[in-house]
Amino acid sequence: MTADRSARALSSLRGLTVGDALGSQFFVPANYPSLKRRELPPAPWQWTDDTEMACSVVAVLFEYGRVDQDALARSFAVHHDFDRGYGPAVNRMLRLIREGGDWRELAAGLFQGQGSWGNGAAMRIAPLGAWYADDPEQATHQAEISAYTTHQHREAVAGAMAVAAAASLAAAPEPPSPADLLDSVVELVPRSAVQAGLRRARDMLDYGDASTVAAVLGCGRRTSAHDTVPFALWSAARSLDSFETAFWTTAQVGGDVDTTCAIVGGVVAAGERGAPPIEWLERTEPLPDWLRTVEN
Ligand SMILES: [Mg+2]
Repeated sequence: MTADRSARALSSLRGLTVGDALGSQFFVPANYPSLKRRELPPAPWQWTDDTEMACSVVAVLFEYGRVDQDALARSFAVHHDFDRGYGPAVNRMLRLIREGGDWRELAAGLFQGQGSWGNGAAMRIAPLGAWYADDPEQATHQAEISAYTTHQHREAVAGAMAVAAAASLAAAPEPPSPADLLDSVVELVPRSAVQAGLRRARDMLDYGDASTVAAVLGCGRRTSAHDTVPFALWSAARSLDSFETAFWTTAQVGGDVDTTCAIVGGVVAAGERGAPPIEWLERTEPLPDWLRTVEN
């Protein structure tokens, strides 16, 4: 049972990492034309903060079998690499935690005491949903707990809950239809702008043009959870059986591409039919050594 959970969480993590690493290639102007033509840019593809934080989520699940907030905050701080593209507020906070600061105070104090509504809690959490395959209530609950270690604004928490619920549902033996998936996620998240965006995403499932949908829902340009998660889950819900389709559809609209693609990659790869192509995995920077040590 635990082996199953670990394998599913790792599958989702690999999808998240490929989405993050390949998505981030499209911030490089020289690679814009290959995005239009759906051609792979030159390897290696380096992953960013999305993957680094997701590795901590997985490491804590391996060690504790659930989210332990202190252990998670410690792992984020200890493994924090300044050069992986974190936002300035999180960079500073993780440094202070590493120096002995209390994550409870630091996370609560961000943005004049409102907490961050960025994507950090959502972008890292799909593997937790895969760990709780087919138990979206528990996935949602654990995601909520995990979010508070860094992102305490209601929107950031709701975003994390939504992504974990979607990954849990995608990892079920019988994955739901796109409409059923989004309906279930809407029911599992609290009232919020994220939830309102998810309802809109549900109403736009039959739109063929992702750019139109992204123009309505947002695609991370404001780097807030409500501007990112609804579109990412719209895209993931429609392509649970094809990582490639899910990736290109998500990347082509632009925005915060490493984050939207990390979310989509993690959710889609949580399911049995959503693994990334081998060639894509081979071009992606390997997971960090410290996670492999935890695994063994
Ligand atoms: Mg990133």
